[in-house]
Amino acid sequence: MSAKIIDGKAFAAKIREQVAGHVAALKSEHQITPGLSVVLVGEDPASQVYVRSKGKQTTEVGMNSYEHKLDAATSEADLLALIDQLNADPAVHGILVQLPLPSHLNEDLVINSIAPEKDVDGFHISNVGLLGTDQKSMVPCTPLGCLMMLRDHHGSLSGLDAVVIGRSNIVGKPMVQLLLNDSCTVTVAHSRTKNLPDVVRRADIVVAAVGRAQMVPGDWIKPGATVMDVGINRIDKPEGGTRLVGDVDYESCAAVAGAITPVPGGVGPMTIACLLANTVTACCRTNGVAEPEGLTV
Ligand code: NDP
Repeated sequence: MSAKIIDGKAFAAKIREQVAGHVAALKSEHQITPGLSVVLVGEDPASQVYVRSKGKQTTEVGMNSYEHKLDAATSEADLLALIDQLNADPAVHGILVQLPLPSHLNEDLVINSIAPEKDVDGFHISNVGLLGTDQKSMVPCTPLGCLMMLRDHHGSLSGLDAVVIGRSNIVGKPMVQLLLNDSCTVTVAHSRTKNLPDVVRRADIVVAAVGRAQMVPGDWIKPGATVMDVGINRIDKPEGGTRLVGDVDYESCAAVAGAITPVPGGVGPMTIACLLANTVTACCRTNGVAEPEGLTV
């Protein structure tokens, strides 16, 4: 195995430490405690785990965590009323509505009802537009985490060939935009892409955000390329039980790549760390305090 393993867990711990330092300074110098509200509708088990983990990490860095758990049958009007209330609450600097929402709720409508400056997931249409025009915005957490690790590994990304596999609004598209803003030559691949192996073989940077276990084999990877594996998939182990794997076949890709993120312990931990970073950034912006360097782009 030749690739450098990019340790997202250690990187995330470093980000959390920086966040905690900024939170302490906001408290002592400005008497402000950043607050993050997480709204969970229904009882999806994976969402419950994510929300618990977000709440725990939020309080660990010294911020206030507010959890709003609503019944699966909550009406759109009631959810929008709660978001209005959080938008108006000066103690709340970040609002996150855990996705997916139950099917009777319109996700776009709900996300776009969050005040853009409190939209720490970066999914509001205003933030999407700002990122698309390379202006200051709230940046979606998973692609932000990937970009931080890529910049840390490469220094400048200028002129590198990047292929993003996946075009979702939460990962693929914002990742494309961030790489483009950093002057990569970007190709975005998806389920209709022809000759995907050849497209991927051109890339200095491969970001896999597909949701298909171990789809990308090592012989698609250009020797020395950097592989960011966003996928989180659970597969059966031959001896029984299950384990988590990414969207790339780790063993064969690590044998060819220059650097690679493992699953678990790569992109995943960075996502929550970036959520905390976005909350501090949002808090500084709304309070007119100079925002910390290195926690966003
Ligand atoms: P989506 O299902 O929304 O998007 C998947 C994308 O992959 C689509 O654009 C789809 O193309 C494309 N795709 C599907 N099959 C193929 C194929 N055979 N060849 C090429 N492209 C294909 O997923 P998300 O973006 O939400 O998530 C992707 C993965 O990342 C999942 O495993 C998810 O669990 C994980 N994830 C991890 C996070 C983390 O913190 N680490 C955070 C968010 C997600 P098309 O548009 O044509 O359908």
